[in-house]
Amino acid sequence: MNETYAQIRQWLESHESFVLLSHVRPDGDAIGSQLALGFALEAAGKKVRFINEDGLPENLAFMAGSERIETPPDEAVVADVVIALDTATRQRLGEKALAAVAGCGKWINIDHHKSNPGYGDLNWIDSGSPATGQILYQMIRAFGLPLPAESRDAIYVAVSTDTGSFQYAGTTAETYEMAADLVRCGLEVGKINALIYDNHPMRRVELMRALLNTLEVRGKGQVATWLLSQQTMQALGVRPEDSEGLIDIIRAIQGVIVAVFFEELPDGKIRVSMRSKDLRFDACKVCAMFGGGGHSLAAGIRMAGPMAEARERVLSAVEEELAASAG
Ligand code: AMP
Ligand code: MN
Ligand code: MN
Repeated sequence: MNETYAQIRQWLESHESFVLLSHVRPDGDAIGSQLALGFALEAAGKKVRFINEDGLPENLAFMAGSERIETPPDEAVVADVVIALDTATRQRLGEKALAAVAGCGKWINIDHHKSNPGYGDLNWIDSGSPATGQILYQMIRAFGLPLPAESRDAIYVAVSTDTGSFQYAGTTAETYEMAADLVRCGLEVGKINALIYDNHPMRRVELMRALLNTLEVRGKGQVATWLLSQQTMQALGVRPEDSEGLIDIIRAIQGVIVAVFFEELPDGKIRVSMRSKDLRFDACKVCAMFGGGGHSLAAGIRMAGPMAEARERVLSAVEEELAASAG
């Protein structure tokens, strides 16, 4: 165990109160990581608050304990230690969340994004881990923390959603060993997978139909792209979390190497989701050119609009990088 790891353990043991944060537009790994570590700390007798800039998305409300996720309160949050989870940059924690914890002096940053600059006082960034939830599972076991049912299930949701249901290349032997351990600890695989994957609102299927109508394949069939305008979002009553994972549909097209999803946000900014199927094409590198980041095979950007301009700039960069990486 290296020195930072030992220090994190020491901070967890010697402090009494913690506030756990995760990124804006939280996914299964963000909320799952908060619940996994938070309930383990609570079972060890600590005080914990769970704060997310955008609150709990509807698609994750089935998670045990998820009602504890709060949006940032107006008053200052008093805690000994802030722990940022699954969040590549400090800014991605959100302005209100950052303001709420501004009075807390000690920061731990636990993440698996290779673009994470290490903005905590203690940083544990393991880009070899397919999910922050897997890092936390290893910590909980290594530190001898309790593993209550909420944490057990949250770890599974975190890792399952970030690995495309244990499919992506980043899935490791440890991932499957961890899953086996969780099942032995009482995790109900069929039940939890049905809640994650077989329980989508009709809106999401309508959204899929609308997205397919915008599908374009370019770059000699290697780049698939679709887009979502505010107008369509409003017409369908789509919620932000409804598009989670849909990009996998166009990523799966034969011959496609890069999938790019453009979404217009209410403030006019454009949210870009990028996926690569080939390690020679580094999605994180291309997203970083526009101020974004993430992992080699899954990355994102929040950039200035308008849509048509953002789309052309990003797709040109993708095609240039594809040509360079093939050469
Ligand atoms: P998404 O397409 O939103 O599922 O994001 C793919 C991956 O890239 C996730 O691990 C995100 O946390 C990360 N990511 C998305 N947007 C950004 C951004 N603007 N800056 C840094 N990382 C990002
Ligand atoms: Mn995430
Ligand atoms: Mn993650």
